[in-house]
Amino acid sequence: MIHSLRGFRDLLAPDSTLFTRIEAAAREVFALYGYQEIRIPTIEPHELFVKSTGDTTDIVEKEMYAFTDQGGRHVAVRPEGTPGVVRAYIERNLSQTGKNGKYYYIGNMFRAERPQAGRYREFEQIGAEQIGNPSPFADAETVAMLVKILEKAGVQGCSAEINSLGCADCRGKYRGILSGYLKTHADALCEPCRKRIDQNPLRALDCKIDGPRLAGEAPALELCPACADHFDRTQELLKLSGVDFRVNKNLVRGLDYYTRTVFEVKAGQLGSQDAVAGGGRYDDLVKSMGGPDAPAIGWALGVDRVALLIKDSAGADTSPQIFVISASGDARAAAFKLLGDLRAAGLSADFSNFELSLKSQLRSADRSGAAVALILGGDEIKNSSCAVKPLKEKARQRTVPMADLIPEIRKLL
Ligand code: AMP
Repeated sequence: MIHSLRGFRDLLAPDSTLFTRIEAAAREVFALYGYQEIRIPTIEPHELFVKSTGDTTDIVEKEMYAFTDQGGRHVAVRPEGTPGVVRAYIERNLSQTGKNGKYYYIGNMFRAERPQAGRYREFEQIGAEQIGNPSPFADAETVAMLVKILEKAGVQGCSAEINSLGCADCRGKYRGILSGYLKTHADALCEPCRKRIDQNPLRALDCKIDGPRLAGEAPALELCPACADHFDRTQELLKLSGVDFRVNKNLVRGLDYYTRTVFEVKAGQLGSQDAVAGGGRYDDLVKSMGGPDAPAIGWALGVDRVALLIKDSAGADTSPQIFVISASGDARAAAFKLLGDLRAAGLSADFSNFELSLKSQLRSADRSGAAVALILGGDEIKNSSCAVKPLKEKARQRTVPMADLIPEIRKLL
């Protein structure tokens, strides 16, 4: 027997149904906000992620599935969607289309992280990118849209956190101040944070070990007047949109390209892997990748985690409504025909094997989760009728004329 790889899983119903439901909710909301779907490749040049996600991030440094292909090209399996969308935006000259620059994607991402509950090596993300709009209206709209998608998918009890990382100037100054502080307090830091001092000091702020203490003790980021204004206006517009959020000064996110607004949605019910979605503004990325000066903002939502949150809600049942049984050899063809008629009427119907005994078919009917079993035997064929047996309650079986069958069943469902 061959086993699946660690961190990779098969999704079966009802989980697969939940995934489909979440995707459908997202597509519906995206359409309301003027977003178009983009399908990007799963494998991209390795350097795309090094240059965009950042070579000092955990994702690129430790978690990327990267290899040299048969043609000697250094390639990587995408760990996130934003770099691919940005590459497509530049390569396809999308800034020249006159369109609104709003794209969404739904796809699997791959990161060689240590697997645990809610953290897999292959997982699905739904992501949105809005490229070309520098104003706080874009920030507020995208966060509000994310919250709407989560609501529509049936998620309850999530909290949104936002912060501003400032522009390259604010951040540049702050990096120096923070790394100076961290250097003088290096003894108190965990091993990974000590390594971050020179490479990526901001990451120390969202370290699970050192972050909470640094929040109170380390110098805080000072925003320049333009960034402070952008952050204030974003918050006002979020309030206007009815989004429930709080400012978390420690929120820095793991990727290099963020500027100004960053945000995360969390759900306490998920335990240690509590991030449901996250994103932020990336005003300099498109230009730094060789494209036009196009400020942008985006986020990604973890579908696997949303599925965990709505697991217990109704609607994930994929049981057929009706189970058809043939009680005798001469009724098999009519039973098979009946299946087709039911489906044509929009009722989901299933069967096991008409050649098995009545007892065995009834057992399958019980296991199927269907609400009603329809039984056809010699008598029913002779009288143009059908036996209707409710499976979920103790109501008695009764015989219904074939002509009335579908309306009668609808009353039972
Ligand atoms: P990120 O791209 O790291 O900002 O992640 C965005 C969202 O994707 C997170 O909030 C999670 O919901 C989800 N996510 C990230 N990594 C994983 C993973 N390894 N397994 C499952 N979901 C993940």
